[in-house]
Amino acid sequence: MTLENENGLREFIRKAALQNALHHGGKAQQGPIIGKLLGEHANLRAKVKELTSLVNVALAEINSMAPEEQRRIVEEKWPEMLKKEKIEEEKKLPPLPNAAKYSKIVTRFSPNPDCVLHLGSARAIILSHDYARLYRGKFILRFEDTDPKVKRPSLEFYDRIREDLDWLECKIDEEYIQSDRIPIYYEYTERLLRQGNAYVCNCLPDEFRSKTLKSRPCNCRNMPIEEHVKRWNRMLDGTYAEGEVVLRIKTDLEHPNPAVRDWPALRIIDERKYPHPRVGSKYRVWPLYNLAAGLDDHLLGITHIIRGKEHLTNQVRQEFMYKHLGWDYPEAIHYGRLKITGAHLSKSKIVQGIREGAYKGWDDPRLATFSALRRRGITPNAINKMIISVGPKTADVILSWENLYSYNRKTLDPQVDRYFFVQEPVKLIVKHLPKRFQVKLPRHPSKPERGFREYIIEPGKEKTATFWIAKKDSETAEVGKMIRLMELFNIVPKTLRANGIEAHFASEPYEDAREARAQLIHWIEARDDLQCEVVMPDATVAKGLAEAACRELKPNNVIQFERFGFARIDEVSSKIIAYYAHK
Ligand SMILES: [Zn+2]
Repeated sequence: MTLENENGLREFIRKAALQNALHHGGKAQQGPIIGKLLGEHANLRAKVKELTSLVNVALAEINSMAPEEQRRIVEEKWPEMLKKEKIEEEKKLPPLPNAAKYSKIVTRFSPNPDCVLHLGSARAIILSHDYARLYRGKFILRFEDTDPKVKRPSLEFYDRIREDLDWLECKIDEEYIQSDRIPIYYEYTERLLRQGNAYVCNCLPDEFRSKTLKSRPCNCRNMPIEEHVKRWNRMLDGTYAEGEVVLRIKTDLEHPNPAVRDWPALRIIDERKYPHPRVGSKYRVWPLYNLAAGLDDHLLGITHIIRGKEHLTNQVRQEFMYKHLGWDYPEAIHYGRLKITGAHLSKSKIVQGIREGAYKGWDDPRLATFSALRRRGITPNAINKMIISVGPKTADVILSWENLYSYNRKTLDPQVDRYFFVQEPVKLIVKHLPKRFQVKLPRHPSKPERGFREYIIEPGKEKTATFWIAKKDSETAEVGKMIRLMELFNIVPKTLRANGIEAHFASEPYEDAREARAQLIHWIEARDDLQCEVVMPDATVAKGLAEAACRELKPNNVIQFERFGFARIDEVSSKIIAYYAHK
């Protein structure tokens, strides 16, 4: 920000006034603007009178505009102001319903370990975890792995899910695996059977459906309890084959939603054809989702179930079972759909893409898996902030990658070091250097305590030095038009050729560059060429050179390549490999 000349000051006042107007329903206030100006620029204190009159001129202009007009100007000239404004409204979670009824709040996250986790799971994880912490309660991880056939779990995913939760900083207080709990589900199933609240149905699916659609019982429903106990034993001992029977929970056959009527609770899966990855062929009768999840929520003492509204019907189904067992249903919060435009969130498509080799792995940068986000330098803090800003509301929400990036940028910007990466390097020869230059590039412009990258530019024969600059920057260079090499000196191009630029040294002070409105570009001295490849979010690779100081980087360091973007260092060897996060 340049305040030395009056135009610069006017512009600055206009910006401050517009910002203030945005926060005050379109009417900017004089006092706060002057306060802000004096706070940020102590040298203006001597000129309060002039300042006040300039502020009044700006206020007269801006306060006569419609708020939409004000916003349009801001969008056009200072779009970063609107982004900042959005981020700064930090949201807090609303209180849980009926929290006081429970001595300890218990929540759970219950994934099927049939795939890695992705951004689509973030809401269930973070809300469940953060509410447990907020109330000093308990957060349970429950693996729902009772379908060895269609949604077949795989051993690697149990660990990958634990790792993802750990990375998200969601500490698990207790862990349960449903495939270890089969005897418990059998025990309650038998209780329901002996009560007459469950039955083993051998009807063909179409037959069952056509009857229940008319609210009529199937042929099995009203048979004596002993018959169903017998049938149950035949399920367990292998008399029945896969697909022959299903155990159903009795509900209200008049229930307005036919999908609720006498829902299936357990079925047979051929244990030799479909052994379970953890328990092998030990079981052939497997609980379906509503039986296992429904029983576990009560048995594990879950007080608040936090899940998507697609589960609303499941609650209705499970409430019948709860009634049969004399239990109260936990508090349930059903949030709306969260869509992230441009993110591939279909588990089956991810799995298929990996199997077919379209993606390089679970952390392929094109995926929205947590492992891919981690590899790119997206922070758990950014994901958390984004999810908390949406909260548990029931309305559907659409977010974009840019929403996540702006949270991440805000997290990274103050803490990561900066370096130069020259993409598609083009040679720049600078002639007539008057002396040797010792340059100190701050690792972070507002944090000198983070130290500097130091380079010495030693003029060679004929007082020349050779640099690499990005192809993009070379393309905008014009003969005779000043360019500033950041933090170094100003040059004037003399000849532009496809294989490089020849320029003359112009001057050293930054002020000269400002006056000439010179483009500021980053550079690397051509001496110690450190190859660098940046894997982009579309899996293409940006190739170039990194400055020598990048040799000190370690894998997992997240940095900012100036004028290029944030990236996570993936590999440091004879070359650097980084994964791109965002601008
Ligand atoms: Zn039947």
